[in-house]
Amino acid sequence: METAEIRRRFVAHFEANAHTVVPSASLLLDDPNLLFVNAGMVPFKPYFLGQETAPYDRAVSVQKCVRTLDIEEVGKTTRHGTFFQMCGNFSFGDYFKEGAIRFAWSLITGSVEDGGLGFDPEKIWVTVLPTDDEARELWKSVAGLPDERIQERGLKDNYWNMGVPGPGGPCSEIYVDRGPEHGPDGGPNADEDRFLEIWNLVFMQESLSAVRAKDDFDVEGPLPAKNIDTGMGLERVAYLLQGKQNMYEIDEVFPVIERASELTGKAYGANEEDDVRFRVVADHVRSALMLIGDGVTPGNEARGYVLRRLLRRAVRSMRLLGYEDRSLPELLPVSMSRMKASYPELEADFERISRVAYAEEDAFRKTLQAGTQIFDQAAQRVKASGQARLSGDQAFALHDTYGFPIDLTLEMASEAGLSVDEDGFRALMTEQRERAKADARAKKGQHADTGVYRGILDAHGPTEWLAYETLETESR
Ligand code: ATP
Ligand code: MG
Ligand code: MG
Ligand code: MG
Repeated sequence: METAEIRRRFVAHFEANAHTVVPSASLLLDDPNLLFVNAGMVPFKPYFLGQETAPYDRAVSVQKCVRTLDIEEVGKTTRHGTFFQMCGNFSFGDYFKEGAIRFAWSLITGSVEDGGLGFDPEKIWVTVLPTDDEARELWKSVAGLPDERIQERGLKDNYWNMGVPGPGGPCSEIYVDRGPEHGPDGGPNADEDRFLEIWNLVFMQESLSAVRAKDDFDVEGPLPAKNIDTGMGLERVAYLLQGKQNMYEIDEVFPVIERASELTGKAYGANEEDDVRFRVVADHVRSALMLIGDGVTPGNEARGYVLRRLLRRAVRSMRLLGYEDRSLPELLPVSMSRMKASYPELEADFERISRVAYAEEDAFRKTLQAGTQIFDQAAQRVKASGQARLSGDQAFALHDTYGFPIDLTLEMASEAGLSVDEDGFRALMTEQRERAKADARAKKGQHADTGVYRGILDAHGPTEWLAYETLETESR
């Protein structure tokens, strides 16, 4: 089943059940704690917080999301994209746990002929909060799930709040068993690769007067009007229904891998290291397309910096795959052609989008050229002094001053018959990160604007992802 068809079925299912269809908000929706929208509920926050009254009792959306926190997972797990689409249904003081479980169950296990997704009910597992007897009972009575396939998870995993006083409540997550060839028995608590999380149901039932952490908060009392917030990962469902092994092989993403394979002359599926690079290329090209589409331009400030890193990592990965020509003009149009069915504005605006992306690749190629000269000089000095190892300082300077990624330095060093003092390099990186953290702490209290991100960039330059990862708060 094509991704666009899954999306259509999701929306139709909830529309048929009196939900108002709400279009995706921009990835750049203004939210003081987020660089990008990272969950379907973000645009509805004012309703959940009681700051505004929802104009409907029920809503359904397919929200564009970016999670920079997941960047290191991309291509290595089967299920993490930097960009993905979250299908969600929402109840504002209307139906609660029973409705949420019933709607989710009937969509995923409903037959394909009747508009469902056709999952085998025997393959479905769920998790609940240990104290949430109500949810456990409903999974049994509504879905007929046996106790063995209802697992418990503590507050850290299965309690939701926004990190601020306001609504909170237990979650219940739905998993699909991909089969014994993907890992051991024992449900999601035993193996999250074999048992794939596809859907998270959040039951907002109480009001929190203080929130110190996900699992450390004070409950004030029950919410007068209880809410439902759910998120189903479109790409994850697509990869299962398309019989693929991961989300980078679905119809919306894989053609970029195929093009990259043609360009590099390397086969996908032959070598795990290369495959990770192919997946990174396809993921990052798509995320960059969506971000530029929503108005981000590469730069050294927060959002622009994320885009810059995505584009550069894509270009870099192509280089590691052996392709040194300009690659984005070959890849970006392929990604656009796959995404335009759901986002026609990408095609209409593609001239602008592609100009932004290609200019960044050209700039990066210049950086690489300059860095390569500096690298060659450093390598010559090392050799002239009869040594065989680039110092941590040299590697750090290449990284910090020329934006030269460490894996590139490592690769070139090995080509030149040299090693690199990686420990020394990492120690310098850690030092820099600590300085940035101290700086962020000093500026805490301002974190309602992007000043903090800028502060960090001022302090240590636009070369490190982690600064953002420590700051970005996941909203679920
Ligand atoms: P995981 O544990 O696999 O990292 P999560 O618990 O962080 O997922 P939620 O925050 O519960 O995910 O988001 C709701 C749904 O959105 C998930 O059940 C999943 O289907 C989807 N999802 C979350 N993160 C990603 C991602 N990086 N790429 C693709 N889909 C995602
Ligand atoms: Mg996650
Ligand atoms: Mg999870
Ligand atoms: Mg989850």
